[in-house]
Amino acid sequence: MSRILVSNDDGIHSEGLRALVDSLRCIGEVVAVAPDREQSGVSHSLTMHRPLRLRQAGAGLYAVDGTPTDCILLGVNKVFGGFVPDLVISGINKGGNLGDDIVYSGTVSAAMEGARLGIPSFAISLVSRGDFRFDVAARFARRLAERIVESSPKGPMLLNVNVPNIGDDQIRGVRITRQGKRVYNGAVVEKTDPRGEKYYWIGGEEPGFEELVDSDIEAVLGGWISITPLKLDLTDYEAIERLRGWPI
Ligand code: MN
Repeated sequence: MSRILVSNDDGIHSEGLRALVDSLRCIGEVVAVAPDREQSGVSHSLTMHRPLRLRQAGAGLYAVDGTPTDCILLGVNKVFGGFVPDLVISGINKGGNLGDDIVYSGTVSAAMEGARLGIPSFAISLVSRGDFRFDVAARFARRLAERIVESSPKGPMLLNVNVPNIGDDQIRGVRITRQGKRVYNGAVVEKTDPRGEKYYWIGGEEPGFEELVDSDIEAVLGGWISITPLKLDLTDYEAIERLRGWPI
């Protein structure tokens, strides 16, 4: 039986997490360790200046008063009692994690933390702003989890999966993609409060995207499930030689 650690950034009570856990239960021992409240957009932040509490929230479900990264660290080091999980899965997020938006994502960061610990990991997100249908994504997560465990990857593995919010019969298939690029128009909205003071709201209108061939965004808009393999090494190798040539 494989051991699967599930987390997310929408919180332990999110329907997306529950759908994922229910779908995975028939293929392994599934434990969810997730934030006790929504933590979307917290990225890879770590709680370092206060204690963390782990509270049981149901059979195999644990809530942490911290971030998705905190949850992975507690899940791996404490909840599985010294066993390293075979797989870390983060999601199913309510909303896509596409293009360079992933730098803000708590969902992707939880999977990234799993990969950083040497565990094959993936994040899975449902691309919609409402009327979420988790069934297709939950079934696909199970299929992908089985495939990864069967293939027993030797090196690190980190995948960012995005699923269009459409029925099974409308999904065209799976595409392996590259990270796309968002275009934000007026991402900070400025308004005036009733006392005449200005305030700001980040993330106004729906952002656009650059048309890039084989991007995650292009695939999802075309009705495909997108899988983007990611790396933790952020080094820009092409820039190394150029910078070494600088007179500094
Ligand atoms: Mn979220």
